[in-house]
Amino acid sequence: MSILDKFASKNSHEIWSASCEVAKCNNLEILDSLAIDIMTIENATKGINLGGGLCPNSYHLEFALKKLCYVEQRAGCLCALYPEYMFFNPIDEEKNCSITITEIVQIDGKWIDYYRCKCNKCHASYKVEERDGHFTFWSWTKA
Ligand SMILES: [Zn+2]
Repeated sequence: MSILDKFASKNSHEIWSASCEVAKCNNLEILDSLAIDIMTIENATKGINLGGGLCPNSYHLEFALKKLCYVEQRAGCLCALYPEYMFFNPIDEEKNCSITITEIVQIDGKWIDYYRCKCNKCHASYKVEERDGHFTFWSWTKA
């Protein structure tokens, strides 16, 4: 099923899955092709209860739509969106070749306190705090 088909499926799990794919996607060709259909995606997903636990699944859909608007408007480097979504794991972003981790600072040599990263495209620097609550999340701030 394509990402667009998932958004149009009216199925809360598929919509959640498509939203996460968009959130993590750094392929501008794919993002551009979806940005054309923002209105379709908005209409198809409107009013559907996406459910979710401590973090509502609508959080992922809202971010996916925000990202597609950003891409459509050519508003700048995708890294500027890192502070807008709390599930950007720097380790994954490095694997995607989006960023380079330049430093990992630990607490008591056990837990990760924060990362320092650099965007591979625009070279912006970020400090990324890793926090554990009911789930692990990351707080990105431009350094
Ligand atoms: Zn960047």
